[in-house]
Amino acid sequence: MTMEFTDRVSRVEPSATLAISALATELENEGADVVDLSVGEPDFPTPENIVEAGKAAMDAGHTGYTTSAGILELREAIADKLAADGLEHTTDEIIVTPGAKQALYEIVQALVEDGDEVVLLDPAWVSYEAMVKMAGGDLTRVDLAETDFQLEPALDDLEAAVSDETELLVVNSPSNPTGAVYSDAALEGVRDLAVEHDITVISDEIYKEITYGVEPTSLGTLEGMADRTVTVNGFSKAYSMTGWRLGYFAGPEDLIDQAGKLHSHSVSSAVNFVQHAGLEALETEEPVAEMVDAFEDRRDLVVDLLDDHGVDVAEPEGAFYMMVPVDDDDQAWCEGAIEDAHVATVPGSAFGTPGYARISYAASAERLEEGIERLAEEGYL
Ligand code: PMP
Ligand code: GLU
Repeated sequence: MTMEFTDRVSRVEPSATLAISALATELENEGADVVDLSVGEPDFPTPENIVEAGKAAMDAGHTGYTTSAGILELREAIADKLAADGLEHTTDEIIVTPGAKQALYEIVQALVEDGDEVVLLDPAWVSYEAMVKMAGGDLTRVDLAETDFQLEPALDDLEAAVSDETELLVVNSPSNPTGAVYSDAALEGVRDLAVEHDITVISDEIYKEITYGVEPTSLGTLEGMADRTVTVNGFSKAYSMTGWRLGYFAGPEDLIDQAGKLHSHSVSSAVNFVQHAGLEALETEEPVAEMVDAFEDRRDLVVDLLDDHGVDVAEPEGAFYMMVPVDDDDQAWCEGAIEDAHVATVPGSAFGTPGYARISYAASAERLEEGIERLAEEGYL
């Protein structure tokens, strides 16, 4: 039988980051020693107290469905965390999701329909584009490559890109894939445009806890933004909990009500005992600070090593990624790097910015040194 597939799915490709990581695993299974700098995943185990809380929750019988939006205790704890960042939300304005990716998916499905304009700041994380295309939206992209990935000097370009037709703008600071943290002046510029053109803004803050000497401002705290910002965060990165699948979003109650319908008809809820582990995660400080310190050391190491090879990068202030300038044909560069040097990276074109490769430096210092040495030896630097 020949199945007929929807336009919706044929508009998108599988996630490039996950695809390259799968290729690296395949090569490893064939016996190759691959330095995998592709997927964005902390290389630390989940802190022990969080694992113990998950186990204890299972033992205590927290294994059934929960309220679709998530257990009340966790939504209360999330509301407290958001309030500490200056964002006021009741528990009715929060949905707990299996990963921030699901949160973004639900928001986009609730807000974007055929022909709606969505603006992205490039380079932008791979799944924003795919989610918008699946919803039928049209993308307008603002390139930040010319401004060292900073938004403030590119506000004129953003102004030229948005209009009354713009439905949604996605801001991700600290950014995946650049590690840029946008200045307050940049966020105020976003606010002015969002208010002027009545635009809803997603503020994806999944790397907010991973910064080096800067304090990122939450967009929703700016005057005029509370009723038009949807704040997304999750546990994957800050608490090294990628496989647990836990995230959340907070926004105006009418959006939460609409997105909540999608949530209840798709995932039902996030996993019960994982939500209990999430409660413990929100109390966890020291292991997080240790991981952030390690990422900062590694950032410095990679910037220095690249500099030794004459490669200049825009120094990231957050997350654990950096964009390395490579050949114009970044796809060929990345394919060659994995085949010849067995170093896995992600082509910038997957993020809308050709001519770069994204390195995730969530790997040990030894592996980072090994990876850069191999790239240099094989003529890729
Ligand atoms: N937003 C950004 C910018 C990301 O890099 C990721 C990484 N996976 C996510 C959202 C989703 O994360 P998760 O679903 O693991 O919470
Ligand atoms: N967000 C991470 C990355 O960009 C994990 C993979 C994914 O979800 O795309 O590598």
